[in-house]
Amino acid sequence: MSFIDNLIANVIREDIRANSAYVVPDSSGLLKLDAMENPYGLPRALREELGRRLADAVLNRYPVASYATLKEKVIGKLGIPAGYDVLLGNGSDELIQIVTTTVANQKRRASVLAPVPAFVMYARSAQFAGADFVGVKLKDDFSLDMDAMLAAIALHQPAVVFLAYPNNPTGNLFDTGDVDAIVEALGDKGIVVIDEAYQPFAGTTLMGSLPEHDNVVVMRTVSKLGLAGIRLGYMTAHPRLLAEFEKVRPPYNVNVLTQVAAEFVLDHIDVLDAQAASIIAERERMMPELAALPGVQVFPSKANFITLRVPDAAAVGAKLLDQKVLIKNLSKMHGSLANCIRVTVSTPEENSAFLNALKAALTPA
Ligand code: PMP
Repeated sequence: MSFIDNLIANVIREDIRANSAYVVPDSSGLLKLDAMENPYGLPRALREELGRRLADAVLNRYPVASYATLKEKVIGKLGIPAGYDVLLGNGSDELIQIVTTTVANQKRRASVLAPVPAFVMYARSAQFAGADFVGVKLKDDFSLDMDAMLAAIALHQPAVVFLAYPNNPTGNLFDTGDVDAIVEALGDKGIVVIDEAYQPFAGTTLMGSLPEHDNVVVMRTVSKLGLAGIRLGYMTAHPRLLAEFEKVRPPYNVNVLTQVAAEFVLDHIDVLDAQAASIIAERERMMPELAALPGVQVFPSKANFITLRVPDAAAVGAKLLDQKVLIKNLSKMHGSLANCIRVTVSTPEENSAFLNALKAALTPA
């Protein structure tokens, strides 16, 4: 054993040693449809004005710690109910980490529960925070298995349940009656985090349930809306709960460049809303076209991606890559996703390119 082997064995947590880093595939030269990004970007005139604002950004000082101006804009422009404050994060990835860290506790090993398949960061963040992750399998149609959910909640008494609404990687919205039943079942024993990362494409929100339920947290991001590069997430909840999460938030976690960019772009939110509307229209165009392909099963989506089952996901993924199209093969993620792939809904041209590439990939050689 070398020095570095010994050092790692002595100091690095066993469960971290056994884990691997989050893998982001190289997408250079590819039609990138694997990460649910908005394909449009900002119009040139806005980018030029943003450039001028960024030129005036104060980089030698720490960011304004209160984020007062940015918070005010987020609250005003992104549909936060009156009287609610927000906590900002370096993407909602950081907010997930803050929530799991806040509940994990050495004396009573907290549980974090989510229906699976779910966004992978729920389980990873739970593990890193030292909490147990409990995954409860969704039904075959990806709806919540309420008998299994309520039984798991009774058994594990989770401190937090994550529900992505719409869910990633399945794309569907859970039944609101089921969500309410989970919120009620937890009561003052557990928090329900409604992760609305894909809300701009869903046409609905559970934000309205906040005033009735003090154990609900709503989390969102500007990533899918068109600002994945600036890394900004936000969450809202009862002020007392938010104040507890605030204790765990690293100071200055939202950098100056992000603050300047977000404050500017939120004043032009109509541009991003219009882009989201065309992505929704494209999703609706693609669904029947995909469903008509032989051997393809399309799952309903209210997000900016579509999940579909193909006869052989590995072969289809490889044939798409041959045609320079990058999608996500979900097969290895969870048993219920065997031969499923996930594709981002993009511009009309890119979507048509994907549809043609998929048709070719499905055609026997
Ligand atoms: N929640 C869900 C459900 C997601 O799918 C993602 C990103 N794929 C995130 C949160 C993280 O988003 P962000 O870019 O804000 O970290």
